[in-house]
Amino acid sequence: MRIPAYAKINLYLDVMEKRPDGFHNIKSIMHRVSLCDYVSAERHADEGKIITVSCMDARIPSGEGNLVWKAADRFFKHFSIENYSVSFDIEKHIPVSGGLAGGSTDAAAALVLLNELYGTGASTYELCEIGALVGSDVPFCLVGGSCITLGRGEELEYLPSALKLDLVIAKGGDGVSTPAAYKRIDEMYGDTLSQDFGSLERAVSAVCNSDTVAIADAMYNTFESVVLPVHAEAAFAKSYMEDADGCVGAMLSGSGPSVFGIFNNKESAEAVCADLSAKGYEAHTCESI
Ligand code: ATP
Repeated sequence: MRIPAYAKINLYLDVMEKRPDGFHNIKSIMHRVSLCDYVSAERHADEGKIITVSCMDARIPSGEGNLVWKAADRFFKHFSIENYSVSFDIEKHIPVSGGLAGGSTDAAAALVLLNELYGTGASTYELCEIGALVGSDVPFCLVGGSCITLGRGEELEYLPSALKLDLVIAKGGDGVSTPAAYKRIDEMYGDTLSQDFGSLERAVSAVCNSDTVAIADAMYNTFESVVLPVHAEAAFAKSYMEDADGCVGAMLSGSGPSVFGIFNNKESAEAVCADLSAKGYEAHTCESI
């Protein structure tokens, strides 16, 4: 079986206070986009405890370090399945370490595939419970669409929206270490993190009204203030998109360094995507779905 595993962008991301468990609470709006990996899985004769993960992309860990492996391990433990043998292959298209939940979405796809291959009949809710143990973004990747995400990202509220955004997503330069970016946020904001820096309500209303211009106006990401000053490629992609014809707004996704731009027509999006590719960016056009 082979299924797509879609990336996400954050239309809104306010990093809140640090919790006793070391994670930060967030107030975010995540949206699924059509840019995707493909994850395939094959079930073999169930002897032993065998999970293999392969990927042509050398940057992706092949064994226990892969989130697909971790998701499968959690899945078999959750259902007390003692004997299993399954092989996964990941066709990678989502930029790695880009703030697009590439690993999390592959893990979510693995849970969906296993639920089919092993006939476990779990609901999306149950898969989300397993997924939350693998990574904070995995539940959203299982649900998709547009969601408010709270807690450390695993608490979801689905937003009804007919949004169709024409997007460019571009990643240049080195990946960003998410823990290091959170540390810089702590140093910069300290105790003030418990305040709202943007307006989640305004962003939610823009998404629910499918109002592209209002979304661009309400977009916010705390990570921009600590990542853009030290990541020249991300800062350039943002200003390049913002200055381009047809762009209504551009922002860092997650902790970056991927930047997404919202365009009011596909032609402008394609032109900017081609320009950024020529400058060495991993750039893609895609849509919100
Ligand atoms: P997020 O937006 O959830 O913070 P990200 O998009 O920034 O994630 P990923 O592409 O998920 O980052 O990769 C982060 C790290 O996870 C990489 O260093 C990579 O080696 C590791 N990793 C493990 N499994 C995968 C996978 N299936 N795909 C991509 N990276 C993976």
